[in-house]
Amino acid sequence: MSKPRLLRALSAALALCLALCAGCAPKQEPETDTFTAMDTVMTLTLYGGEPDALAAAKDRVLELESRLSVTDPNSDVSVLNREGTAVLAPDTAELLRRALELCAQVDGALDVTIYPVVKAWGFTTGDYTVPDGAVIADLLTRVDYTRVRLEGDTASLPAGAEIDLGAVAKGWTGDQLAALLREKGVESALLELGGNIHTVGSKPDGSDWRVAVRDPADPEGYIGVVSVADKAVVTSGGYERYFEEAGVRYWHIMDPKTGAPVRSGLASVTVVADSGLYADALSTALFVMGRDGALDYWRAHRDFEAVLVAEDGSVTVTAGLEKSFTPSGKRVLTAADP
Ligand code: AMP
Ligand code: MG
Repeated sequence: MSKPRLLRALSAALALCLALCAGCAPKQEPETDTFTAMDTVMTLTLYGGEPDALAAAKDRVLELESRLSVTDPNSDVSVLNREGTAVLAPDTAELLRRALELCAQVDGALDVTIYPVVKAWGFTTGDYTVPDGAVIADLLTRVDYTRVRLEGDTASLPAGAEIDLGAVAKGWTGDQLAALLREKGVESALLELGGNIHTVGSKPDGSDWRVAVRDPADPEGYIGVVSVADKAVVTSGGYERYFEEAGVRYWHIMDPKTGAPVRSGLASVTVVADSGLYADALSTALFVMGRDGALDYWRAHRDFEAVLVAEDGSVTVTAGLEKSFTPSGKRVLTAADP
């Protein structure tokens, strides 16, 4: 065989070999664990990293739950609510500090002192009831995040006030887990913390994660899919926890101004952001603000994107999701730039 022909034959063989190898490259198998924590079902799916990464992530969730739970009498939050003052674990104090800043940033649409009201409606026990107007008016006098004091790690509350970090705890947990997993060499992970999805990197094959946004009118179905990498995708939906009385649906997201489940016209809000804490705080706050208020907030900040689903079924996505949101049939409006 002449030299050029030999070279051509060798390079053709090499190309064929490379093509075959690409097809049969060892597929990275995920490690996964499903468990109940923070009052929801969580599934963690990890690719690669140190052997103890999955166990360490679950331990971290349980550790944060033991500090933040309002129903665990020994948690930092319960001790503070009972005693009126408490020295918090440094990470609880950090979360409370950032949550209070976020309450201010959304002008009180998020209010961590809403807990007495949430309790009165029975959302903590499942003993649901529509409280009397006078009872709500009285409870509202205890709701005011600006009166929570935090000096160093020591927090104190005015008489009668109680906090609930339920609107932000899972988002914060997602951030903590993503940081821990990266330290342990995990470059690709899907963290499903109930309605909070946190993605680390992209899928192992380099493509984006595809996260379904549920249809609030039929939560078994979905209204579309967002494609993301390295983002939190957090949903607050009226369908997640609710009861019905005399034909009226009452859900777990409260308007801190009225002390009643908020009826803003929205049925769910999904926020896509770099930070899980921010996405979680906003999913709750934008739900309270309603569509127009939520879009005004987005135009003023532009550091997140959102899918807003109204009770009438209409869907609005912010402009940054135009390419990454794939609707499943429904007509979708894209909110314009300012
Ligand atoms: P999320 O599912 O993130 O929207 O959080 C809802 C939970 O946060 C509820 O179950 C309540 O415990 C609490 N919550 C309800 N409304 C508010 C509010 N406006 N601000 C702060 N926390 C709230
Ligand atoms: Mg939230």
